[in-house]
Amino acid sequence: MTPEERREKTRAYNAQYKAKNRERINEQNKLDMREYYKQNKEQVLAAQRERYQDPEVRERHKRTGQVWKQANKDRIRQYQRDIDPLKKRARWMVDNRVRQNHWPPARFFLCSRCDSHAQSYHHPDYNHPTWVEPLCATCHNRHHFSK
Ligand SMILES: [Zn+2]
Repeated sequence: MTPEERREKTRAYNAQYKAKNRERINEQNKLDMREYYKQNKEQVLAAQRERYQDPEVRERHKRTGQVWKQANKDRIRQYQRDIDPLKKRARWMVDNRVRQNHWPPARFFLCSRCDSHAQSYHHPDYNHPTWVEPLCATCHNRHHFSK
């Protein structure tokens, strides 16, 4: 068998294996990626930032977002309708204050729970729309979505 033939045979075998085990491979890849992300968070984020400097990449992301929005209009509308009015009002008041330059944007602060830059204002109590806590995205997500 020539080296070419051997390579060809390996390639065919690999393709067959992949086709047969696609689900499992995808699942494993997802787990690996998650694990890799956990262990190399800083590098991954830096690489993403780097990639995002490319206008073409940014353009592509934007287009994907627009396509998703277009395809999920009803879902978005429903989601917005389902938001608690109290919540809506609290967010609206903060957004207005920032837009009209009465308040600095959250990114001017450090996160109050870690030392990253804050990215949004968190409402500990929606009954008090102007009580806010600047939080980074990670802490904000952790607060709302982790049990
Ligand atoms: Zn934080």
